[in-house]
Amino acid sequence: ASARERKPAWLRTSAPTGAARAKFDQLHSTVKDLNLATVCEEAQCPNIGECWGGGEGVATATIMVMGDTCTRGCSFCAVKTSNRPAPLDPAEPDSVAAAVASWGLDYVVLTSVDRDDLPDQGSEHLASTVKALKAKSPDLLVEVLAPDFQGRADLIRTVTNSGLDVHAHNLETVERLQGRVRDRRAGYKQSLAVLEAAKAANPNVLTKTSLMLGVGERPEEIIQTLRDCREAGVDVVTLGQYLRPSKRHLPVAEYVHPDKFAEWQAEGEAMGFVYVASGPLVRSSYKAGEFFIRGLLK
Ligand code: SF4
Ligand code: SF4
Repeated sequence: ASARERKPAWLRTSAPTGAARAKFDQLHSTVKDLNLATVCEEAQCPNIGECWGGGEGVATATIMVMGDTCTRGCSFCAVKTSNRPAPLDPAEPDSVAAAVASWGLDYVVLTSVDRDDLPDQGSEHLASTVKALKAKSPDLLVEVLAPDFQGRADLIRTVTNSGLDVHAHNLETVERLQGRVRDRRAGYKQSLAVLEAAKAANPNVLTKTSLMLGVGERPEEIIQTLRDCREAGVDVVTLGQYLRPSKRHLPVAEYVHPDKFAEWQAEGEAMGFVYVASGPLVRSSYKAGEFFIRGLLK
């Protein structure tokens, strides 16, 4: 591997200890028993100890619904791709709700593959899952990291008005690099329009987006992207380092220094986002429960 591919020290993490470890182990075995797919495990997320262990007193996990196969193929993403993924499991909303209730999570992020093959692109299924979660666990906070639904406002509304607390949709990168990073059916303007449509559908819902840094973006392009997000009414933004899942995926262009991430944090806060999380190990769902602690929700 070239020097650029060697990970710097700030990207190495340590395992959880003590009470956090015990909580982590308990959640880990629950997940195994319930046979559900968590992004935390599948992406080998470095924050798993902190999130699952409820380091801040709020246990968070990200679970993947609507199958393990996506109709799109983004160059940074390790999820399997097919034009014809397996049909949706109609029992999934209830089984996810039962699993999450028995975990004792405080904050759950639901994410999904894109289902361009389905007439409603899975929007009703996502909405049903949110409703089932809220029915079983009324105090649970629910974030949905949703697809772009090809920009269809009716499908976006279905999800925004399902009872969720946070409607997230990721821009992933700056405008110039969209084609290199995301599937050709995704796009910068379309994704901004999705976030704007979600806010318009329900102003009480927090809207959120994430950017991966280190794919070749320039500083002025990050500024422009943050400005465009504010313009679209986005409340929350997260910035983290892109890590290459395998040699077949988009190479890392740069490992951005933690000090740079701190500058983006300050920049975002100055622009008026209600919450900004920026750091090398920040993932779109990292410390999602902080919204709760900071009283942004409820
Ligand atoms: Fe899971 Fe997200 Fe936390 Fe990673 S940052 S462990 S994916 S909840
Ligand atoms: Fe991965 Fe999402 Fe792209 Fe599908 S749409 S390939 S799940 S990033």
